[in-house]
Amino acid sequence: MNALDRFLNYITVETTSSEKEMTRPSTPGQRNLTEQLAREMRELGLTDVYISDADGAAFGTIPANTDRALPAIGFLAHVDTSEAASGKNVRARIVENYDGGRIMLSDTVSMSPEDGFTGLLDVIGEDLIVTDGTTLLGADDKAGVAEIMTMAELLLKSDRPHGTVKVAFTTDEEIGAGPDLFDVKRFGCDFAYTVDGGPLGELEYENFNAASAEIRFRGVGVHPGDAKNKMKNAAAIATEYQMLLPGEQVPEHTEGYEGFIHLTEMSGDVVSAQLRYILRDHDLDKLRNKEKLMEDAAAYLNRKYGPDTVETELKETYYNMREMVEPHRHLIETAQQAFVSQGVEPKTVPIRGGTDGARLSFMGLPCPNLSTGGYQFHGIYEFIPVRALETMPKVLLEIVYAYGGAEKYVSETN
Ligand SMILES: [Zn+2]
Repeated sequence: MNALDRFLNYITVETTSSEKEMTRPSTPGQRNLTEQLAREMRELGLTDVYISDADGAAFGTIPANTDRALPAIGFLAHVDTSEAASGKNVRARIVENYDGGRIMLSDTVSMSPEDGFTGLLDVIGEDLIVTDGTTLLGADDKAGVAEIMTMAELLLKSDRPHGTVKVAFTTDEEIGAGPDLFDVKRFGCDFAYTVDGGPLGELEYENFNAASAEIRFRGVGVHPGDAKNKMKNAAAIATEYQMLLPGEQVPEHTEGYEGFIHLTEMSGDVVSAQLRYILRDHDLDKLRNKEKLMEDAAAYLNRKYGPDTVETELKETYYNMREMVEPHRHLIETAQQAFVSQGVEPKTVPIRGGTDGARLSFMGLPCPNLSTGGYQFHGIYEFIPVRALETMPKVLLEIVYAYGGAEKYVSETN
């Protein structure tokens, strides 16, 4: 079966994950798909196929076909889809030979480069898989699943020498829980790639460093008619705090490598108020500068309104995987060459978020992220060109072959 047919099949299984559910996987549909994938892996001839009891992820192995000591390489994709749009009754349609104009997803919903969907300009002349305007598509990340599975099928039929290749189809990535219960040791790979990125050729090994902050304000409530020199209005002091932060370092004014301090929530009254923020920066020093700025703003207000008026709670939540991947530059170079071998121009982009691979990299499994080929994830405008589904399995195969003569990389991380 080719990756296109696989993809069209996998997207019919509803696998929306849920932030509210504490079970793992968070929703039963995810396990329906991983069980289907486990059956498919056994049929294809993968060995050591199993489903993790802990979180429902599915695993399989393509054994080495040579006695030489070669590195074991992993490929990962996640089966769940984002809660941001429905993933139920996905009805995909193929727009053939896209002409660069407006695509009608339904009678009332459409997308066009004119509306800011400029990614469409990359794929003029291609066949595009789109939604019916009521659900997301699920290319994030079922395209990755289909591409890895197809690579596995091709590899099992190939005579070219290769080391052990392991695949993992994980759950609950979209709610940030993917690696929580991932057993890096049992997976047993020297390094891995997630296939969970955007447009064909994208290669990512830098993500944000992240922190969250909760700022609490304590006021003094007095009858407003009798408040002179007595009242301390916590809500007003909270707005003053927000105004002390740099107005340009916010998500709506930043891109690329620019970090931000993002006010996500505010609540309060005269007696008490609370602001919540997330802080992001690719550069850890710059993230720490942002933390310092927030502490300085609190200190200033405590001098102005009295000690203990403002309380700051800062927590660093995840880190840029760059420092964990960079010592294994070959991971990047091999992937770049694999793209080039398939006529795709590789493009390294910083992720403005986190990935499962980032967390796994810090758990001892260096893990950059590769493109799936999809666009506009997490919504009804999601689409993927058929060509991406045809190309990515070959790119993954090229990576495997590249390590087929790569004794020098064995267990360098262990
Ligand atoms: Zn994803």
